[in-house]
Parts: sequence; structure tokens; C-alpha cells
Amino acid sequence: MRRVYLDHAATTPVHPEVVEVMRHYMLQDWGNPSSIHSFGREARAGVDEARAKVAALIGADPEEIVFTGGGTEADNMAIKGTAWELRNKGDHIITSAVEHHAVLHTVEWLEKQGFRATYLPVDEYGMVDPGDVERAITSSTILVSIMAANNEVGTVQPVAEIARICREKGVRFHTDAVQAVGQLPIDVHALGVDLLSLSAHKIYGPKGVGVLYVRRGVRLTPLLHGGAHERKRRAGTEGVPGIVGLGKAAELARLQFDQRVEHYRRVRDLLWERIRERVPEVRLNGHPTERLPNNLNLSVLYVEGESMLLNLDMKGIAASSGSACTSGSLEPSHVLLAMGIPHEVAHGSLRMTVGVSTTEEDTAYVGESLGEIVDRLRAMSPLWNARVR
Ligand SMILES: *Cc1c(COP(=O)(O)O)cnc(C)c1O
Repeated sequence: MRRVYLDHAATTPVHPEVVEVMRHYMLQDWGNPSSIHSFGREARAGVDEARAKVAALIGADPEEIVFTGGGTEADNMAIKGTAWELRNKGDHIITSAVEHHAVLHTVEWLEKQGFRATYLPVDEYGMVDPGDVERAITSSTILVSIMAANNEVGTVQPVAEIARICREKGVRFHTDAVQAVGQLPIDVHALGVDLLSLSAHKIYGPKGVGVLYVRRGVRLTPLLHGGAHERKRRAGTEGVPGIVGLGKAAELARLQFDQRVEHYRRVRDLLWERIRERVPEVRLNGHPTERLPNNLNLSVLYVEGESMLLNLDMKGIAASSGSACTSGSLEPSHVLLAMGIPHEVAHGSLRMTVGVSTTEEDTAYVGESLGEIVDRLRAMSPLWNARVR
């Protein structure tokens, strides 16, 4: 059976060149980077090279790159690290209602520790209004955290404008750029951010490794204490194979940026066309233009998202309903609800995210398969049959 993976926002396959370099740092240069002997120095060289490659991808200096155990840890480090560092300065954190749970649940946890939080609303496309950020900032605000692009609906936030407002007001700004990196041109100076999170496994790298970019001069209280690794910002022997894998993935993301983005946009647009041709009463969720090139999020009216997912899976097609982290729960996506999408429409939502290996034939197969599935499910749906036309 044909298998089509359309869940690249959840994770991506590891690029063979990434596997190759990781293999080398497991079988050959497996030393501890902190050791002064040649075994250690070889491993250190690999980590240094990876740091330079990640820095080049986002326009940072290598010293501003802190390796973490993934995007979730980078988000936690940015938010808790700032909260603890600046707790004598203020207790107020601003974020948005559509953040990834790695941000939302971290801020909610800090509220239980006595911090105060504002969750900014979004418009019907999932976009934050920079004016709302400006109005929410008070003298006790210590951090604003707004994602660069949404993992569910793909909406790209006006991050540069928000960063400018924060800078003017002297408030630290963090962005979760896990989905944006590799899909949007990300330059930390052009964006004007203080802290930025990214993750290897969303850009054809390995799982369990990420980065927090920390602008020079920005101080954070560390989450982990121990050795002096990562300039005392993250203790623990470096996960060398993962780090060099991320370095290679970052290098490929930089060198292949234009061709990948062009490919994503082409197959994503084809996919949407094939689906619209075959499935009546389907809506696009998220912004029509200000969205990630690989993201399609749609609602099929009168059909349950979970039923479509199971049926697509039986046809070898891997998609998602909202975020992978919440699937299994019956609550519709917090992102779609924040956009004001009614419960019943949110329940019929599907996220399809294309990748480098998605083909034109895949889009035709998915359009036809989804068409058959929706026809079948709607034939059994009293709501569909009773609908007012
Ligand atoms: C995947 C993702 C994360 C979490 O990254 P992990 O490396 O899986 O911990 C955080 N934020 C966004 C927007 C993501 O898409």
C-alpha cells in the first residue's frame, strides 16, 4: 500500500547525511568534550562545529547558542530562566492563547508559583495584534513570549514588530521558532529577539536536541545545575551525537532553504487544490497568506476529525488533528477555539504538513482518498443529511 506522511509538524524523518555524521560521533569520536585528551578534543571539535552551523542558520554568534534537550526544554529555559532571574524586577509574563503547550503550561506553572500572566487573544486567523502586546505591558512585565509561527494552523506572527515594541519598553522577548526555522528566513538580529527556541527533529534532525539562542548580555537562571557545560547555562555532558546531528541538519536547512520552501509551497498548494476539487464544504483554518509554506489546516464540515484520521491511516496516510500532543483527548484544539472557530467545526479539523519527500502523486492520492472517506462518513451523518442548503 502507498504510504504518505503528512505530519512533518509533529516530526520529520532524519536526513541520511545527519545519520552519517551522528554515526561517526558514536563509533569514532565518542569522547567526552570536557576531557583534555585527544578523545575529548575530537568530540569538542564536533560540538564547536555544530554550534557554528546552528549560529549561521539564524544569524547568531556561536557563543549565543545553548544546546538543550529539545524545543520543550529551550522554551522552559527561556521562560523559567527569565522568571527566576528577574523575579526582583517584576512578576508579569505576557504570552498568547495559541502557544505550544511547552510555553503555555510553563507559564501556567509559574502562575502557581506566584507569577502573573496575560494570555493575549488572537484574531480569526490566529494572529496576535502587536497593539495588544503594547497595551498589556506594565512596569512589572519581565517577559513577552510569542511564537514565530503556529504549529497547528501555521499562522506567522508579526514577531519583528512585537520585538520592537518590547525593546522600546525594555522588556525581554522570547519567540518559539520551532516551526518557523527552515521555513521562514530567521535572523535573530533582523527579528530583534532576545531568546529564540528551535528543535532538531522538526528540521530533519534527531529527536531530543534543540537550541535556545540567548542574546549576548541576557542572563538566565539555569534549569540544571552541575558542571560548567554550555558556559554554565546548561549542566550535563553534551549529547554529542544529537548535537552534531542538529549541526548537520541546520547546515542543510540553510543551504537548501530556497528549494525546500519552494517545494513545500508547491505541493501544499496542490494538496489543497486536490482536496477542494473532491471534498465539498471544506474550510481553510489559519491565515490565507501569512502561513507556513508546508502547513494545511482544514475543517471538513459535518465530519469528525478523529474518524477521518483513522480512515486515512487505513489508507496509509498520516495526518493529524491539531497538535500531536493533544491527540487522544476529546477537547478540540485550544488554537482553533482561540480563533473563535465553533466546537463542531473545530472537531472536523485536519492538519496536513508536507515535507521534502512529498510528491505531486501523493497529493492526488490524498485528495481522492479523503474524498472517498468523507463521502462515506457523510452518508452516515444525520447532520449532513439534515443540513440546510
Ligand atoms: C515540536 C514543538 C515544540 C517542542 O519541541 P520538542 O523538541 O519536541 O520538545 C515546541 N514548540 C513548537 C511550536 C513545536 O512545534
